[in-house]
Amino acid sequence: MGFAEYGGKYMNLEEESSEMGSTVHGMGPTIVEKEHASSRSQMKISLLLLLEEATEMEDSAAQKRKHREFPLASVSEVSSSCASPGVALFAAHRLQIKNESHRVPLNAHLTAIKLFRLGPIDSVCMVEGSDAGKQTSYSSGVAIQFRNEEESEAFHCVFQQWKKEFNVQGGDLPNGTNITTCKSKFDEKIEASSAKLYFHYYGQLLHQQNMLQDYVRTGTYYAAVIENRADFIGRVVVDVGAGSGILSLFAAQAGAKHVYAVEASEMAEYARKLIVGNPILGQRITVIKGKVEDVELPEKADILISEPMGTLLVNERMLESYVIARDRFLIPNGKMFPTVGRIHMAPFSDEYLFVEMANKALFWRQQNYYGVDLTPLHGTAFQGYFSQPVVDAFDPRLLIAAPMFHVIEFTKIKEEELYEIDIPLRFTATVGARLHGLACWFDVLFNGSTARRWLTTAPGSPTTHWYQLRCVLSQPIYVSAGQEITGRMHLIAHTAQSYTIYLTLSAKTWGPGAEQGGVLQTSSCKLDLKEPYYRMSQPQAYPLTQDQQPQPLLQTQDIHIQSQDLDEAEIMQEPSPNSCAQIDSLMQNA
Ligand code: SAH
Repeated sequence: MGFAEYGGKYMNLEEESSEMGSTVHGMGPTIVEKEHASSRSQMKISLLLLLEEATEMEDSAAQKRKHREFPLASVSEVSSSCASPGVALFAAHRLQIKNESHRVPLNAHLTAIKLFRLGPIDSVCMVEGSDAGKQTSYSSGVAIQFRNEEESEAFHCVFQQWKKEFNVQGGDLPNGTNITTCKSKFDEKIEASSAKLYFHYYGQLLHQQNMLQDYVRTGTYYAAVIENRADFIGRVVVDVGAGSGILSLFAAQAGAKHVYAVEASEMAEYARKLIVGNPILGQRITVIKGKVEDVELPEKADILISEPMGTLLVNERMLESYVIARDRFLIPNGKMFPTVGRIHMAPFSDEYLFVEMANKALFWRQQNYYGVDLTPLHGTAFQGYFSQPVVDAFDPRLLIAAPMFHVIEFTKIKEEELYEIDIPLRFTATVGARLHGLACWFDVLFNGSTARRWLTTAPGSPTTHWYQLRCVLSQPIYVSAGQEITGRMHLIAHTAQSYTIYLTLSAKTWGPGAEQGGVLQTSSCKLDLKEPYYRMSQPQAYPLTQDQQPQPLLQTQDIHIQSQDLDEAEIMQEPSPNSCAQIDSLMQNA
């Protein structure tokens, strides 16, 4: 995945999604004044007219939806046997139901209401909520009966439309009862504006092409699938976030019985085209447009395939969707391609980068910019630049300690465990240098039955569209060879499909104060993974000693007091070919 590469910041937020375009928008206030339809066909025509009218009024719908009234043949509280005529009133995103005697048995915000259709003219509105003071949940219900089907239908349309405005989805129960449920797992966590930009980005072929043209990425996926045919032959596969459908086509090439290609963006339409154009493979692929959090599949999968990795592995928060897809669609002990991901980290020293970043803020040092003193904003600008993680491909010789890694097992991790990732850090400096920050990259393992293959984004390895990521400290720390560097990288997910990074690095020095146990130099920074500074430059050529044996790498989970119990510990200890081994030998050289 490469959403962060463009950041999507400049895209048009106002554009309407086609999903919205295809739904019935709010009705005009005239609905209740329509004549009752005497027969079913009349009613249908009448309803069609209403819907047409509603569509025509789409543009001004927002204003017209402000106030809507539906007469009710009867209103009764679920717990009571008294019923009387009344009215249902939509106003300011609340639904009020009043009876004849102006009692209001229901008055609640639309997001708190669940609507059940019991029959052609009968429905029940349930209200759920919690009493903050008592911390209890309660629910109350009102049974309503419309005067006719037409008005019932119109009421439900308006209700669903209003709910949609709050990103609340409606669905049908298998028994035909319509139930309007709460927000989907995705919508609960992610801001609508972020999701809209995100799926708009992936709906464009050029961005899919960018990923397809990352031959390290796509070639490794291809090899991992084809080398592990045994895991695909005759199996049901789900492609989580199928994009162009390329991984579904690979799975079909490897002999999958059927592939469900789930894709939420408009790219689903292009994937269909690609699949239709490859009929021998395509006849075993079904494209399903929707989020993996929401769609239903006709059968369980034996294996999931996906490319959910963002910068620093976790950016875009799609790993959570991968894990949700696992819990929703995968058979117990089913396979996941990729199976495991690792975030690698090492301290680095890069004077050029530091000076370049610090210099960006120099502009704000001017005291006479067209007669204006800009210096009051220098500090803010300086901090702003240092809150951007740097994305580029760097020379691994800039690393000043052997890397360590943090493992994420896609087959085991709980979705919530990805909301906050706390990584304790401990390194031993191999050289004396000015420590400028933490360099990060990731790799993923395809743990196939026949072959285990790693896809790595390590510095020094063939560059991928993910490059590497560096968190730069605004206050560098001096370290000497052999000195221990400790710290913490704390990642906290946010609703814009990314993470806030809190980084602290410390080194103990034995100067003044040594009798008290040394002086701790500490430097911290807070960065937004969503707002990187793209500084692509080709890494410089560097000499590699091939004859060095890799050292065992330190796994961050080992530092935890309660370390994770990894069944596949030997997988975790295996350095990625062409990544850690190289870096490790460089460390030995240093
Ligand atoms: N599998 C393709 C595309 C990878 S990019 C390939 O390897 O080339 C990730 C894709 O996942 C994007 O197209 C994005 O729209 C889709 N996606 C992200 N989150 C999703 C979700 N929750 N449900 C369905 N699709 C999702």
